[in-house]
Amino acid sequence: MRTVVDLTRCQGYAQCVFLAPKVFQLHGDEGLLYDPAVPDDQVERVRQAAVACPVQAILLGEEVSTDGR
Ligand code: SF4
Repeated sequence: MRTVVDLTRCQGYAQCVFLAPKVFQLHGDEGLLYDPAVPDDQVERVRQAAVACPVQAILLGEEVSTDGR
């Protein structure tokens, strides 16, 4: 499973970091860092993070392109 965060939408609310800390991290001024290749045991957490994100910046799916990040 792959994930993409639309960083132009992301407001750094960090709900995703709270829900899936192995995939999403906030690093000070750099903003959100994440691993686009989601390990199987983190997929459910990333799904919850995508639902919880207040600006729906998290896309998740087999077909999600990671181009243009
Ligand atoms: S929950 Fe959404 S807005 Fe907040 S840091 Fe994650 S992707 Fe960005």
